[in-house]
Amino acid sequence: MSARPFTEKKLVLATHNQGKVREIADLLSPFGLEVVSAGELGLPEPEETGTTFQENAELKARAAAEASGLPALADDSGLAVNALDGSPGIYSARWAGPEKDFRLAMEKVENALREKGAEDRTAHFVCGLALAWPDGHCDYFEGRVDGILAWPPRGEKGFGYDPVFQPIGHDLTFGEMEPDRKHAMSHRADAFRKLTDACFGGT
Ligand code: IMP
Repeated sequence: MSARPFTEKKLVLATHNQGKVREIADLLSPFGLEVVSAGELGLPEPEETGTTFQENAELKARAAAEASGLPALADDSGLAVNALDGSPGIYSARWAGPEKDFRLAMEKVENALREKGAEDRTAHFVCGLALAWPDGHCDYFEGRVDGILAWPPRGEKGFGYDPVFQPIGHDLTFGEMEPDRKHAMSHRADAFRKLTDACFGGT
């Protein structure tokens, strides 16, 4: 089934995270939309009870579309390590604990690989994007970027797991790369390309 074309003037970003709001609003700026966040509208934040990126992105987008009466876009992302059967995956943020300590989260990944004696250090970042409508229609797009896990972590430019993620074919980790370079090849860029090609008629 093909995606529903987006012809509205206004879109809700189903997130309370200001960093994400800025990044997504930037990516959508060529389309001249009025973008408002779930935070600004005072919408409740649903619990992420899904077991996949798709379920979590869709439940956030659907909740915001229903509560606001406007189309809503939500994302869910994370790092999937192949030798760990896709962990931390949808729990990527939670592996950093209540202090959001990503040095700790990166160490957990490294220790889990060592405990397994895993030689396979491949991983991928995933970004799921759901665009939901007040009538219940929802389209989903998923982007990914493949890489190798480095150790020790390198670079201070990114966030989260960037310092251990070295995309295939590159010598630098995402933490060492200039943001523009990362953003051109990231899982988020891939997912947005799919979304805009399908719903916004491309850039
Ligand atoms: P979400 O807010 O539930 O989507 O959490 C995503 C988590 O995945 C973040 O807290 C990061 O730990 C991790 N993550 C997602 N995208 C990236 C990225 O581009 N670089 C580094 N870590 C990422």
